Amino acid sequence: MESKIHDRFDRDHLWHPYTSTHSPLPTYKVDHAQGATITLSDGRELIDGMSSWWCVIHGYSHPVLVDAAKRQIEKMSHVMFGGLTHEPAIELGKLLLEILPPSMEHIFYADSGSVATEVAMKMAVQAHDNPEKTNFATIRSGYHGDTWNAMSVCDPVTGMHGAFGPALPIRYFAPAPKCGFHDDWNPDDFEPMRKIIKENASSLAAVILEPIVQGAGGMRFYHPQYLRELRKECDANNVLLIFDEIATGFGRTGKLFAWEHAGVEPDIMLIGKAITGGFMTFAAVATNERTADMISNSQSGVMMHGPTFMGNPLACAVALASTKLLLSQNWQERVMQLETIMKRELTPAWELDNVEDVRVLGGIGVIQLKNDVNLAHFQKRCVEEGVWIRPFGKNAYIMPPYLAVSDEQMKYLCRTLLKLVNEENERI
Ligand SMILES: *Cc1c(COP(=O)(O)O)cnc(C)c1O
Repeated sequence: MESKIHDRFDRDHLWHPYTSTHSPLPTYKVDHAQGATITLSDGRELIDGMSSWWCVIHGYSHPVLVDAAKRQIEKMSHVMFGGLTHEPAIELGKLLLEILPPSMEHIFYADSGSVATEVAMKMAVQAHDNPEKTNFATIRSGYHGDTWNAMSVCDPVTGMHGAFGPALPIRYFAPAPKCGFHDDWNPDDFEPMRKIIKENASSLAAVILEPIVQGAGGMRFYHPQYLRELRKECDANNVLLIFDEIATGFGRTGKLFAWEHAGVEPDIMLIGKAITGGFMTFAAVATNERTADMISNSQSGVMMHGPTFMGNPLACAVALASTKLLLSQNWQERVMQLETIMKRELTPAWELDNVEDVRVLGGIGVIQLKNDVNLAHFQKRCVEEGVWIRPFGKNAYIMPPYLAVSDEQMKYLCRTLLKLVNEENERI
């Protein structure tokens, strides 16, 4: 049985995310996935609590997305975007501008979230066209991707500064906001960032952060007022504001995009992950007219980036189908229903000794433990119980494919998470 789901070649020769070749954590072999269910090669079925890292909102192998991909493949799966254009890119762009913040006017298609972060940071530097104004500020506990500049603005502790510190450009880090999403606003929360912006305005190109929900850097939900203060301070100091909505976009937090919780718009906005409904890698960077003008008026006069697979027609066609499918349903009501179930089902976790915090927002439920989870053991128990949940550090969380998961599956995910956290408690 075990040999069917733990492949030897895979263990000996394939690198998985953040693993060692000497003692890699076990991997489970998947045969296929449908709706909210992942089927292993030994036939066992797992209810998916991860949406494959935020992105599979409609569930796996959704027929509408499969069909869109097939139809596009028949025509052309790729054609260069330099000098050529195509219907899927145009139609997707039109639809995105309808749902992105109203001030967004220009779209740059990128291959992945990390590349989108690089593009956004390059845009900010190019926009100022000033060798003094090239640095960035952010908040701790953030995550913006694994490429060089993205790493430099990830949380210095949970991110990759430990491995790459001296090689990374030095950024300004304000503490992560302390006021939770539902707390009363405390104006002191913003003061460290205000100070950073004021004191370093002459060297800052932009502030980059994830609005409202900090994902892979800590699974934290913070107060919308923070973003309103930030917008004002950026404007007062000629610093651009970049919202990284790669994780929060497409309904996950209960709004289509998280900026809506605060009602303030960024100058540059990143979307990715769920943009193709988790079908394939793709991302986009949107800017307002002013930022695009600044770039186009700069000495180089052009945005200096152009990936080989920019505007990939297959990705655009699937993203278009996925976004239309999302907008055609009452997605918001569904996210709210799941939020209600998670709030009810995860509340008992407060009573466990090893639990630090329990929080739920939209389609995201987090149990934060006092100690790091033993990942290999936890995953083994997940598979035995028929769920797929992958904690990181102290955070055991669920964010299922919210348009595919049933109420029953959602409850089972919550109860199993609770059971496994309780087991961790007993192991201490
Ligand atoms: C995942 C993520 C990225 C990086 O996206 P990739 O597609 O993995 O390169 C950037 N920012 C945020 C907020 C993310 O969650």
